[in-house]
Amino acid sequence: MTIRRIIYANDKRLKQKSDKVTRFDAALKQLANDMHETMQSFNGVGIAGPQIGVMQRIFVAEIPPNRDGDDEPSHPQSGQTYILVNPQIVRVAKKRVEGREGCLSIPTWFGYVERPEWVELIAQDLNGEQITLKTDDLLGRIFQHEIDHLNGVLYPEHISDPTKFWQELPSD
Ligand SMILES: [Zn+2]
Repeated sequence: MTIRRIIYANDKRLKQKSDKVTRFDAALKQLANDMHETMQSFNGVGIAGPQIGVMQRIFVAEIPPNRDGDDEPSHPQSGQTYILVNPQIVRVAKKRVEGREGCLSIPTWFGYVERPEWVELIAQDLNGEQITLKTDDLLGRIFQHEIDHLNGVLYPEHISDPTKFWQELPSD
């Protein structure tokens, strides 16, 4: 496994639409492993192909369980790794909800983004088998954020109120 280099918001590739994955081979599995490792090494909860300069429609998402000793209980959707290939949103909730987002390609910045409360999507797994998922809450938000990346969209594009996009520099 290899930690890949993340590309940042000024890179034109993050504004481009990614290509459909057509080869479900060992190289795709290797790519997914690298993406997973890269995401974890930067404490992310999601990463899409274009963020490491791979213009392929694949993303990895995982909400980590809290470590022992943390006061907060783990998020109920934590602990599972999702690797979705060629994902397509097929249905969305009418109701929209606002939530906090960050992005490995826009480090130190955060924003409040309004998105449909849940989404239903179809995708393929690493073997090319079709899967259907319906998800809400933080995971639903992550899936929508990552699918945006595959379409060349970054989350600040969804924010019209400038007070809802801010920088938090690490204090140490
Ligand atoms: Zn992102």
